[in-house]
Amino acid sequence: MGTPIGVLQTRPLSNYLQQQLTNRYTLFKLWQVPPDSRREFLDKHSDLIKAVVGNGVTGADAELIDSLPHLEIVASHSSGLDKIDLDKCREKGIRVTYTPDALTDEVADMAILLTLATARRICEADRYVRNGEWKNADFKLTTKLSGKSVGIIGLGRIGSAISKRAEAFGCSIGYHSRSRKTNSRYKYYPSMIDLAKDSEILIVACALTHETRHIVNRDVINALGSKGIIVNIGRGSHIDEVELISALVEGRLGGAGLDVLEHEPEVPDLLRGLDNVVLSPHVAASTVETRKAMADLVVENLEAHFTNKPLLTPVI
Ligand code: NAP
Repeated sequence: MGTPIGVLQTRPLSNYLQQQLTNRYTLFKLWQVPPDSRREFLDKHSDLIKAVVGNGVTGADAELIDSLPHLEIVASHSSGLDKIDLDKCREKGIRVTYTPDALTDEVADMAILLTLATARRICEADRYVRNGEWKNADFKLTTKLSGKSVGIIGLGRIGSAISKRAEAFGCSIGYHSRSRKTNSRYKYYPSMIDLAKDSEILIVACALTHETRHIVNRDVINALGSKGIIVNIGRGSHIDEVELISALVEGRLGGAGLDVLEHEPEVPDLLRGLDNVVLSPHVAASTVETRKAMADLVVENLEAHFTNKPLLTPVI
């Protein structure tokens, strides 16, 4: 038997994944180590650690990568890569894998769910029934999704899956991305402002990079207008949250459905108090089925790497 392979898991993921990793490797659980002892912990075990498993919240930053001299692969349990220092991985020849596709349908479903919930005010309506207010008056009128114009930011895997679902609701689709998709019949908008002007619902589904941080800013929000709805299943920092909240408070924006927040899990008090907002705690991909598929993909990528086979979903 050779030297055991050490895998460093940065945060708790599913019990299933933890079990699969424990069955195959020596698993180190970084989240169980108090922050002020992590340096010492990593120094002690770095000879064994060849892989890091994290997700879209806790990935692998430059400091972590530099503290693991034998690191060979970062196998992320996420499709977003913004929490992994990809430049550092390239520089050091560290492979990176992620879990696209496994979660595409689930996240697209969530985008539609948040859109409907925000437009039809279903959380507010639920509170109305529970609080006994139904007896006093009918609930206010809401707005429909069917037939609306939907603008999608990022027509990638998830954006395309959202577009198919929105089409089934009879919506017209426009999109913004870095380039026109030659295989798409939807209208392409090189300008975010123009997309927002022509949309009644704007859905954020692009990758978070330096260019897409605050891609939804004050001007975009104003272009969408007071009846517009913004849905974010991408990353919190895609939207300038201060501007979003002030637009919602001032009535310059109709509503927002947010699975992700800029400083999650911190939730601004003002946002909490707004009835035209539906919030969910970054759970777009959090179903039993999807989490199992993601965990299997993480393990398969690690197995492929350590048996010198091609990676299933390589980024680097
Ligand atoms: P993908 O297939 O790689 O698509 C990413 C899209 O982002 C592409 O359409 C790309 O379009 C667009 N994009 C990149 N840079 C851009 C820029 N500067 N301006 C405009 N568009 C840009 O990724 P995916 O699988 O659809 O996932 C998208 C994102 O969803 C992930 O990165 C992740 O952050 C997020 N996500 C969230 C959850 C959740 O739980 N809420 C779960 C999974 C994923 P071009 O290349 O044509 O520009």
